[in-house]
Amino acid sequence: RKREGKNGAQIFDPVILDRTRQRAEIEHDIHEALDNDWFEAHFQPIVDTSSGEVAGFEALMRMRHPDKGLLSPAGIIEVAEETAIIGRIGDRILEAAIANLARLTSHTGMSDTYVAVNFSPMQFESPLPLRLVRLLDRYGILPHRLVVEITEAVLMHDNPEIRTILNEIHTLGCRIALDDFGTGYSSLSYMSRFPVDIVKIDQSFVRSIEDGSGIGQKNRMLVEGIAAISHKMNCLVVAEGVETAAQYGVLREIGIDCAQGYHFARPRQVDDILAELQQRKHI
Ligand code: C2E
Ligand code: CA
Ligand code: CA
Ligand code: CA
Repeated sequence: RKREGKNGAQIFDPVILDRTRQRAEIEHDIHEALDNDWFEAHFQPIVDTSSGEVAGFEALMRMRHPDKGLLSPAGIIEVAEETAIIGRIGDRILEAAIANLARLTSHTGMSDTYVAVNFSPMQFESPLPLRLVRLLDRYGILPHRLVVEITEAVLMHDNPEIRTILNEIHTLGCRIALDDFGTGYSSLSYMSRFPVDIVKIDQSFVRSIEDGSGIGQKNRMLVEGIAAISHKMNCLVVAEGVETAAQYGVLREIGIDCAQGYHFARPRQVDDILAELQQRKHI
């Protein structure tokens, strides 16, 4: 956007110019990353609260930039969605996630753990179900071991095409998780209109949940309510952003099925996870 100058000349707003430049740089990095394989899927464990075992992993996108280091997804995803290049990044992450799950399986015998992959709205195009079938088949992974994580941005417009694709994915046997639950406008209605298997309670509700008073107490009541509704709707409940033992304790009391967060582990390269498992075996 431009601003009119005193004499009618167009003056570029320096802040906007800066943002434009930043965007262009991210876009450039994305293309480089696609060409040079800088995208990685890091795995963060999701723990079953009744057994304490790892039920699955969430695959989280990282860009390993040779100069800038390991970059987080926030800014990258935003630009990628605006420029529609998210589809190509998504394909890479999806394949990396499934390939790494296969690798984990062959090294550890974890034959029932799942991988949860984040999807942007634009990825829900008609070829997606077939692409999933082919990928799962190629890596010998059964469909129930793939969880498709969506946010309400995917469901918001109640697009019949997206609904059909989600139903197809669900019919394949893949599971659908509703991410960031409770932060949107009408999360509850999505539970009845779409084939949801897993509800992920946003970390904003988990924060301070161990406080017996104030916001913490209210959050606890909200989480109890969300868990009750989710269970009634036959959904598993995962709590996100669990950072402390105290939070985990409350969530177990409430009867949350799974928990994810720094209290258990940060997202890491699968190589590192394998190395650690290997080491534990030799203790
Ligand atoms: P999300 O799907 O809600 O993922 C959870 C985020 O919380 C991740 O941030 C994770 O690293 C972080 N996290 C996990 N445990 C804790 C904790 O205990 N405390 C705190 N403070 N944070 C925790 P990350 O990796 O930076 O990803 C940010 C967002 O980027 C994700 O939020 C997701 O919306 C998006 N994203 C990540 N990977 C992909 C991808 O492959 N495709 C798409 N479309 N989006 C992705
Ligand atoms: Ca997610
Ligand atoms: Ca989330
Ligand atoms: Ca989030």
